[in-house]
Amino acid sequence: MLIFLRCLHASALTVLSSDKRLTYVTLLADESIHPRFEEALKKVQGEFAKHHPMYVGGKKVLSSEGEFDVRSPIDTRIELGSFQKGTADHARKAISAANQGFEDWSGRSWTERVSIIRRAADLIEGRMFNLAALVTYEVGKNRYEAIAEVSEAVDMFRYYADLMDENEGYVKPMKPGAPGERTKSILKPYGAWAVVSPFNFPLALAAGMVAGALITGNTVVFKPTSAAPFSGLKLYEILTEGGVPTTAINYITGPGSSVGDEIAKNHNVSGIAFTGSKDVGMKLYRDFVNGQPYPKPFISEMGSKNPAIITSKADLEKAAEGVVRGAFGYGGQKCSATSRVYVERVVKNDFLKILKNKVEQIKVGDPREKAVFVGPVINEQSTKKYERSLQTALKEGAIIVASSTSEPKGSTPKGYYVKPVVLIGLPSTHRLAKEELFVPFVIVDEFKTLKEAMQKANDTEFGLTAGIFTQDPKEQEYFFDHIGFGVTYANRKGGATTGAWPGSQSFGGWKGSGATGKGVGGPYYLLEFMHEQAQTVVEERP
Ligand code: NAD
Repeated sequence: MLIFLRCLHASALTVLSSDKRLTYVTLLADESIHPRFEEALKKVQGEFAKHHPMYVGGKKVLSSEGEFDVRSPIDTRIELGSFQKGTADHARKAISAANQGFEDWSGRSWTERVSIIRRAADLIEGRMFNLAALVTYEVGKNRYEAIAEVSEAVDMFRYYADLMDENEGYVKPMKPGAPGERTKSILKPYGAWAVVSPFNFPLALAAGMVAGALITGNTVVFKPTSAAPFSGLKLYEILTEGGVPTTAINYITGPGSSVGDEIAKNHNVSGIAFTGSKDVGMKLYRDFVNGQPYPKPFISEMGSKNPAIITSKADLEKAAEGVVRGAFGYGGQKCSATSRVYVERVVKNDFLKILKNKVEQIKVGDPREKAVFVGPVINEQSTKKYERSLQTALKEGAIIVASSTSEPKGSTPKGYYVKPVVLIGLPSTHRLAKEELFVPFVIVDEFKTLKEAMQKANDTEFGLTAGIFTQDPKEQEYFFDHIGFGVTYANRKGGATTGAWPGSQSFGGWKGSGATGKGVGGPYYLLEFMHEQAQTVVEERP
């Protein structure tokens, strides 16, 4: 049977188990994670169905607009909690609080900020299983993916702390411009940042953006997705417990549009870090450019439509495994998910045969169960998008070549379950081969030459992740030379297009997949949160 994991980098995943750190490989074999995760699944239920405030300047804030309920996509009868319907006014107050907190936080030494982020990383690590169980309940990830997400948050914090150390707080001596001058370049924080995060990595991606802003000395107004604000609340609690002052981080919840409208036009916002869909990201980008008196940093990580290319020189077994993991890990709800596959015509039938066999084995159902690989999609909109896409594809000539055979409803009939599906017969120019669907839906097409495959792969407005399977080094080189994507892989059995890990793969999209061209978890990420100041002192001459 296949064992599936989230997009992990084999050598990089570390999870603290008992008193030792484990690698990805040992995690798979480590039976001790199961009782601990299962215990955590029970334990976190004690925190469910409560009412949660927002936190502005350290004070609990309730909204006169009321609350919204968050339910588990695993089974909508599970009420996770009620969160505040924050408004533009709350966003305004949070921005004001973050500005008030800026002097204190940015005035601390970078080494103090680094130790606070490291302390927060330790706290997350110590709560690994409880946080993972919450992620499972909140967004429907299986246990491996959930544990990996928490571990990724830990490694993200530590990687950014290491970067600050390596760069000695980003203070660099420079050459004197004239005799008698002492010069240096120093990177400084901008001010108060708005951080807006998506549902699919409710802890790790929020953690990455928030830590990037904080460790560099900025303060934060953090708005998690309304689909999964609970993990975001835990992040807020851990950061403040770790030592981030409550004036430096604010937590607001509620509709993205009211917060979005305010952060775009509020002149006291110094920068925005957003991760989410291209449509929302582009709207926020345009509104921010129009709403501000001068250019300000806008970090935006957005969606994609990620291709995998399989040539006749590929190990087809590995390629099929990589496609299954890349496409169906977390039900296709990763920004890096493989959603288009281009196979060289001469091996297409052989490849599809192996792929079919693997897809049929995928167990879909309640992700609390150990054997389940694909849990629910996030909400009803996603199930409808899946159904509409499938109907359109079939009406327009597509054929299903592989689908999971396990009954998707599992033991809990009230969740949002759909079956992973692979289709052929749609041209690569079809709308469904162009739009990000974010459901377990993969289109396979064929090619005759690698040049043709590359053209098809690159013919998109997105550019996040792409992969190739070939044993031929020349083909690999051709792929890396010509692919227009930010995160690229050759022969990634663990996920054809998935698997970035902080400190190993910078994770940033080209074109419509990202605004800055510098990746999350990469060596240049922190630079985006700071502006440079050149300092010159002219020494008095005797
Ligand atoms: P989304 O765009 O629907 O929402 C993202 C966030 O934006 C949420 O917090 C939401 O409340 C907020 N929002 C909604 N309307 C807003 C507005 N008008 N102004 C400001 N904020 C607003 O995305 P999602 O469904 O939560 O997440 C899935 C998407 O995120 C996919 O497109 C996926 O590819 C993308 N994603 C990208 C990356 C990456 O690194 N490139 C990583 C994860 C997810």
